[in-house]
Amino acid sequence: MKYRLEKPVHGSIGTEKYACSIEWRNGKFIADEPENNGGKDTGPDPYTLLLSSLASCTLITLRMYIDRKGLDVSSITVNANMYQEVKDGVTTSIVDRDIILPPHLDEEVKTKLLEIAKNCPISKILEGNIKVRTFVFRDAEEAKTIKYANDEITVDWKPEFCQHSTRCWTQLLQVFDPRVKKWINVDGASAERIKEQVEKCPSGALVFHYNKDQEVQPG
Ligand code: SF4
Repeated sequence: MKYRLEKPVHGSIGTEKYACSIEWRNGKFIADEPENNGGKDTGPDPYTLLLSSLASCTLITLRMYIDRKGLDVSSITVNANMYQEVKDGVTTSIVDRDIILPPHLDEEVKTKLLEIAKNCPISKILEGNIKVRTFVFRDAEEAKTIKYANDEITVDWKPEFCQHSTRCWTQLLQVFDPRVKKWINVDGASAERIKEQVEKCPSGALVFHYNKDQEVQPG
């Protein structure tokens, strides 16, 4: 499992309604709510951000294809909006995306560009299987190292670095069990087996050492 972003999107909010600072790899911007929802409209609201993702992905994907094929298309525009329907207690979100191409393009090219747009990466995410996993930490925990030890071994876990790859708990649940509060049970397997698993952690969030030598081994 490899995360799509090298640096996660980092969001924070204080008490000012409802300005969120959103940091991305190369800068930051404000997200907010419109005034009719109690915000100050100082930045895009979450629905707008979602639709912006689809609009920009559509445009970038089309531009890449057009450039690769050497097509004569100087500009493309996209309008995106959405609504929700509730039927029999089930909410369905409908996203409408209008792509406006120059008038001179023939039908065949238009059809191909439609197909390309429908397969842009964000379209595939929105229309595919999507699961949001949520993990919660107290502020102090995020920066700290949590130690789990018995007489023989110590496993350090740094929540800040954990990529939630699931590798540890899917491969050694008797030691790494996210369903319980003290989620690493160093008595659940032999020290050798725990060491082997810690070394598979892709993020360095897990580090292992034998208490007798205190030598930190790469996680
Ligand atoms: S501790 Fe490592 S292996 Fe376990 S979930 Fe986090 S990143 Fe994955």
